[in-house]
Amino acid sequence: MKKTFWYECISCGKKYKATKNITYCRNCGSPLIIRYPNDATFDKSRSKSIKDSIWRYWNLLPLHNERNIVSLGEGWTHLLKASRLSSYLGVKNLYLKNETTNPTGSFIDRGVSVAVSFAKEAGYKGTFCITKGNLGVSLAAYSAKADLKATIFIDRNIEIGKLYQIIAYGADVNIITEGKFTNTDFKNKDIFNLNAENPFIIEGKKTTIFEILEQMNWAKVDKIIVPFGSGGHIYAIWKGINELKERNVIGPMKVQIFGIKPKSCESSDNKKSIAIDLCIPSTKLSKFALNAIKETNGDLIYVSDEEILQSMMLLAHMEGIFAEPSAAITIAGLQHLLKKDLIEEDETIVSIITGFGLKNPRAIRILSPKPRKINSLIHNLDPSYGIRTMGRTKLEIMNFLNEKTMDYGYGIWKKLIKKGINLTLPAVYQHLNELEKLELITKVVSFDESTQKKKVFYKLTRRGLNLLRELYIR
Ligand SMILES: [Zn+2]
Repeated sequence: MKKTFWYECISCGKKYKATKNITYCRNCGSPLIIRYPNDATFDKSRSKSIKDSIWRYWNLLPLHNERNIVSLGEGWTHLLKASRLSSYLGVKNLYLKNETTNPTGSFIDRGVSVAVSFAKEAGYKGTFCITKGNLGVSLAAYSAKADLKATIFIDRNIEIGKLYQIIAYGADVNIITEGKFTNTDFKNKDIFNLNAENPFIIEGKKTTIFEILEQMNWAKVDKIIVPFGSGGHIYAIWKGINELKERNVIGPMKVQIFGIKPKSCESSDNKKSIAIDLCIPSTKLSKFALNAIKETNGDLIYVSDEEILQSMMLLAHMEGIFAEPSAAITIAGLQHLLKKDLIEEDETIVSIITGFGLKNPRAIRILSPKPRKINSLIHNLDPSYGIRTMGRTKLEIMNFLNEKTMDYGYGIWKKLIKKGINLTLPAVYQHLNELEKLELITKVVSFDESTQKKKVFYKLTRRGLNLLRELYIR
């Protein structure tokens, strides 16, 4: 039987043929979603016959021909009972949907597998996206598999692990340096233009809830805790639950959805959150995700960066899951729910852990209770590394110069003392001279008109900056 599906506007209900890639309604500008006929069943036995990936839910995924599936084995990830974390937090039934094991280390692979499969089926010649991280990583990987050229525009704040991934998959990488560049500025009709609100992405993401419920043997789940970025995952989970209800796969089960966001995304001092990829300005879909949360009696919860880092540590130390900050955030959210006394003792809770920890090495260094030990371990890895013998003082000096662009000897001396490194001023100048000899910093001399005196500043050289970056990512 030939499969049928179409686009429908999320707001005005206008329908469109799903033969090409359209993201927004031409009538009212709202996001489009995919709909299936009522006789498209969620056939439990049939779905199992496909394979252990999202494509087991073939009947409710938007693709006509199985031959066009572009899969790297996304989805069908483990749902783990978090025994140690449960007893630590004082909950009974806590499960972790471990999305870190997806092909590129992120749940987004679910959505991108569907989008790239459709791109292939519809005859597109290449793919395009603007990204803060994981969307671009995943698009690069699936485009490689589909033999489509991926053009990826990255945000300057991208985490270094994700940039390496995009490069490794062979995408054409561009950095957005200044001004606004949006998906609508990219006009090539032969290229599949993807963003987080794309209807095919949403379809892939909805399989998270299909899997969770199937893995729970269709038993009741009370609360689902999800990171809130664009709101797409949350909307998709809500859509998935409704599709199952409409097809009587589940009864009138009430699943509360909680979205978790970093507090620092909202801060006015422009402090960058450790979970930067969740700091997305409100999208057209966000409103509908918030409605979904409201309809399920859930909530949107803000947590601090400190709480996110602590949750990363809890997950890694107690459950053996190394999650990136924007994934571990759901454990921080769970702790808020517990503090507010919003969890009943026998409730079943599923926390979605969306992405792998190595994507954000910066967090690991901040996270460690013994950063000096990490430095010492890293320095000892490779004797030719140069900075092995550099010691803490020189590294601190370089860190100061990285933060402030330029400083003079006296200022650096004061900062070192503040950090508990007690040296004489001449000793500081000795360190500065040595760093200069290594060409890691350089002198800048300026003449102060008011005092009629020369002033000597120090700043990092490109080599110094690169060295700091290397240290950061190793
Ligand atoms: Zn519309």
